[in-house]
Amino acid sequence: MGAMKTFRIAAVPADGVGREVVAAGREVLDALASAGDFAFDWAEFDWGCDYYQRTGRMMAEDGLDQLKAFDAVYFGAVGWPSVPDHVSLWGLRLAVCQGFDQWANVRPVRFLPGVTSPLRKADHVPLDWVVVRENSEGEYAGLGGRNLAARGPGSEVAVQSSLFTEAGCERIIRYAFELAATRERKHVTSVTKSNAQQFGMVLWDDVFRRVAAEYPHVDSDSCLVDAMAARFVLRPEELSVVVASNLHADILSDLGSALAGSLGLAASANLNPERRFPSMFEPVHGSAPDIAGQGIANPIGAIGSAALMLDHLGLPDEAARLERAIEATTAAGVLPRDLGGTASTKEIALAVIDSL
Ligand code: ATP
Ligand code: MG
Repeated sequence: MGAMKTFRIAAVPADGVGREVVAAGREVLDALASAGDFAFDWAEFDWGCDYYQRTGRMMAEDGLDQLKAFDAVYFGAVGWPSVPDHVSLWGLRLAVCQGFDQWANVRPVRFLPGVTSPLRKADHVPLDWVVVRENSEGEYAGLGGRNLAARGPGSEVAVQSSLFTEAGCERIIRYAFELAATRERKHVTSVTKSNAQQFGMVLWDDVFRRVAAEYPHVDSDSCLVDAMAARFVLRPEELSVVVASNLHADILSDLGSALAGSLGLAASANLNPERRFPSMFEPVHGSAPDIAGQGIANPIGAIGSAALMLDHLGLPDEAARLERAIEATTAAGVLPRDLGGTASTKEIALAVIDSL
C-alpha cells in the first residue's frame, strides 16, 4: 500500500440546519475515505450566532489565520433570528469569502432522478446548468453608508454602491468560458442589467464581448436579468453556463435550485482558483430556522458540496462516485420532506453511503 493521503478540512457548521447537513456530509465523506486510500483530518469550529451571543463576534478574531492551514473549508449555513442578518453574514461567511479571495462561486443546478420539478416540462428537459457567480465585488462590495443627509425624522438617505473592476469582470467571465469549454454544451450566457445600470454593468458587457471573442469554440449570448428569470422557467434547455454578478447570480441560483425541486438540493463552491487560500464548500440554502433542530433538513445540497470539494482536492473519480450515489438515492425514492418524501437528514446520508 502506498502512503495514505490525508486532507485537513475545517468544518464550520455555524447555524440552524447548517449543523445538521454538515454532520450528514461529514459522515458521507468519512465513509468514502474509509473505502478509499485517503483520509480526512477534521477540525470543527463552533463559530456562528451562538458564538456571537457569547463573544460579540461571529468568528474568532484570528479566524482567518486559523483556517489558512486547511486544505478546504466545509461550511454549513449562517444566520439566526437573534442576530441581524447583515451582521451574521458579513461577520462570518463573507469574511471568509473576501478574506480568502474566493472570487468564483460555482453553483451547479441539475435535475435529479426521482425528483419532481415545479417546471411543467420537467420530464422532458435535461436541465443541467452551472451558475458562475462573481463573489468578490459587484453589489456586495460593502460600499456606501447611511445617515448621509439626515436632517431630522424621515429624512435619512442611504447609499449602496456596486463596484465593478475590469480585472474582476474579466477573471470571472474567463472562468465561465474555461468551464463551458469542458462541458458537453459549450455555451455561456452573461446576465446583467446594463440598460438601467449604465456604468458597472456596461463595463461587464464590454469585457464579456472581448473575452467571448477569444473562445470561438464556445457559444455565447447576453441577457438582461429580468428576462433571464423568465428564461430560467420557460426555456431552461437553452442554458449551460450562466455567469452573473454577485447579486444577480445569488437570486438566479435560488431560482435555479427551486426549479430543480428544492433549495435544499443546490451545492456550491467558493473558489480561490489561484489556490493561495483555502476554498469553501457549502450548500446554497440558508440556516432555515423554520425547520432547524428537527432532523428533517435536506442534506443533498451539502453532500453535493462535498462532491465539489473532492473534485477540488484532486479526487474527481471519488466526486463522480458521490454524485452517482446521490442520484441512486433519489432514484430509489429516498427523499426528504421538502421533496415530498419522509426520509430524515440522517436516513438520506445513510442511503447515500449504502449507494457508494
Ligand atoms: P439565507 O439568507 O441564508 O440565504 P434564507 O432566509 O434565504 O437564508 P433559507 O434558510 O435558505 O432562507 O430557507 C428558505 C426556505 O427554504 C425555508 O422555508 C427553509 O425551510 C427551506 N430550506 C432551506 N434549506 C433547506 C434544506 N436544506 N432542507 C429543507 N428545506 C430547506
Ligand atoms: Mg437565501
